[in-house]
Amino acid sequence: MAETRPLEVLAPAGDLSCLEAALEAGADAVYLGLGELNARRRARNFTPEEFARAVALAHAKGARVYLTLNIDLAERELGEAARVLALAQAAGADAVLVKDPALLLLRPATPKPQFHFSTQTGMTNRADVTAVGGLGAARAVLARELSLREIAAASRIFGVATEVFAQGALCFSMSGRCLMSSWVGGRSGNRGACTSPCRVPWSVEGEPGRTLFSMRDLGCVHRVAELRAAGVRALKIEGRLKTPVWVGKAVGLYRRALAGEDPATLLREAAELGKYTGRELCCGYLDEARDGLTGIAGREPGGGAGESPGAAAPAEAKDYDLSGRLEGGRLECLLAFRGREARWTVSLPPIRREHKAVPFGLLCEALEREPIQGCSRAGGSEVPDVLLPPRLVKSIRDRISVELRLGLKKTDGRIQAELAPLAEAVLVKSPPHESNRRSLGGEPDRARIEAGRLGAFLKKVRPGGVIVEGLTAGTLEAALRAAKGIPLVAALPPVFFDDDIPAVKELLQACQGAGVTVEVNSWGGWRLAREVGVKTESGLGLPVLNSLAAKWLAEAGLSCVALSVEADRIQLEDVSAHCPVAASLVVFGRPPLFTSRVDLSKEGLLGKIVEDRRGVRARCSMEDGLWMFRPVEPFDLRGLRNPKIRVRHLVADLVGSDDPVRDWLGNPGKPGSGRFLFNYDRKLA
Ligand code: SF4
Repeated sequence: MAETRPLEVLAPAGDLSCLEAALEAGADAVYLGLGELNARRRARNFTPEEFARAVALAHAKGARVYLTLNIDLAERELGEAARVLALAQAAGADAVLVKDPALLLLRPATPKPQFHFSTQTGMTNRADVTAVGGLGAARAVLARELSLREIAAASRIFGVATEVFAQGALCFSMSGRCLMSSWVGGRSGNRGACTSPCRVPWSVEGEPGRTLFSMRDLGCVHRVAELRAAGVRALKIEGRLKTPVWVGKAVGLYRRALAGEDPATLLREAAELGKYTGRELCCGYLDEARDGLTGIAGREPGGGAGESPGAAAPAEAKDYDLSGRLEGGRLECLLAFRGREARWTVSLPPIRREHKAVPFGLLCEALEREPIQGCSRAGGSEVPDVLLPPRLVKSIRDRISVELRLGLKKTDGRIQAELAPLAEAVLVKSPPHESNRRSLGGEPDRARIEAGRLGAFLKKVRPGGVIVEGLTAGTLEAALRAAKGIPLVAALPPVFFDDDIPAVKELLQACQGAGVTVEVNSWGGWRLAREVGVKTESGLGLPVLNSLAAKWLAEAGLSCVALSVEADRIQLEDVSAHCPVAASLVVFGRPPLFTSRVDLSKEGLLGKIVEDRRGVRARCSMEDGLWMFRPVEPFDLRGLRNPKIRVRHLVADLVGSDDPVRDWLGNPGKPGSGRFLFNYDRKLA
């Protein structure tokens, strides 16, 4: 049933104090995370006990509570996810924000909380919203990249309400379509662990670095009437890493906007919210103008931007406290982090080389700018005036790292919640599908390639199958002629908008007529393909990281699923062991690290190579009207052998290659030959 209540102000609650501030300021609903399975793992998040209290507090004020469970789940996290769902139901949560299809199989065991499809699911068009409405979702959180016109169209779908982001940080990449943080360090934005590499300076063809991809913040408090008229059900304030003061102010502003206060006044006040990050506010994509949205450095690179009056230090950058006290000839250090305290004492040796010594105060200042374990020191604590020799500076840093690591570990233990027999039954592992006989180390049998390069490619090589990107109804026939009997799969784009739907439908009709299988890469694509009745597989736009997600997709009619390209070795082995449907694995490629709707044409980036300080290099191109950033150097798993990773198809993704034939025939090299293995040899966070 569609919700019929008035426009809702939905506030972030990184912890209980933020929740209280949100409720005090008049939030209609709050969203929060429990433990680690949510898209803000660096937020303080809630323990089960705090969560129950949060629900009681909110309900006492007439507000609703939405629990975020909106990440791609690894096989080993399925039990935990089921317990989180059970706990959400037991505590009386009003809704759960989801991304992973596995949760759809677990839903019947915990039917009470509504399902809201997270912005991480990439809801960019009416077909996406229709799809998730048909799956029983009460709400779709629309991608942040939509215009007012597109939002209005999506909000007209009967039976499912829409929610939009109105305030807070924006991503450079399309919602739920970013691999950059995963690529540079194994910390996935799709699993709530992004380290924001889009905020750092990038150089262009050797020119000095600029923050080319750092987005302005979103601020739509003066556009509330238009969003209401567009039919939106909820206005979401981003910021589960922000302080209670900020949250209270933001909620207060939106309450006043809904009460009809002068938009110009509200906009002036909202600018103060932007000062928190040092980034100017904008209306995002609402007006279809997509340039001038980036380049604002904000706090991340320099940390020197101003803060709004009264705002506490932002938790996203400064979230532990380090102070010191002199005791005789010794320095006592005190570190406080996430409710834990650690004290240790170091002896202060005589300083022989003063020019090499570091004042403790200077070390503390450096720790405010240089994160350790992703956390930085909050300023403001008293520090004694004492000099430290370099080796003591190193030992203090090492100790901080250890303490933060301990603090970052789950202190709550496993989520304790009794599972319904139905959930227990869903969690029973399946045997692997019999068609998954190819193991890692075998020759790729499928090539993925752009439609425009297919003919030339197939003149030189004959793979067992091709997945073709960028086909239209008009080019399908020529592609089939070029394939000369090689099985061809037509890939739908992961991102398309309302205006693209007619062309997608035409392609689907053409594929249906020609008996061509379609690769779907979004919920909307899946829905449209189903309507046409064409044969389908899923691609990396609907990635699979666990066997339940694979099972759900198989039940939804997909004959083959794509294992997540960012999975690590253990995750691939785990999902292979229980994947109940034919699967494919990309073993070579240059996946899009950013996919962006920002118009960068004025930056003159087309065809250029950008590079960050770590040496990550990506080429800027346009594909289907979107900016794509593919790595210059591919990842390559072809030199590995692992019989535990078994799939039906091993795919070499040649999209973005300078020379697809050379890459297809290329010598994969031996293990340890220096090929980049993406996350295979590291742990995906
Ligand atoms: S655009 Fe990508 S790298 Fe930047 S914040 Fe979003 S998910 Fe992280």
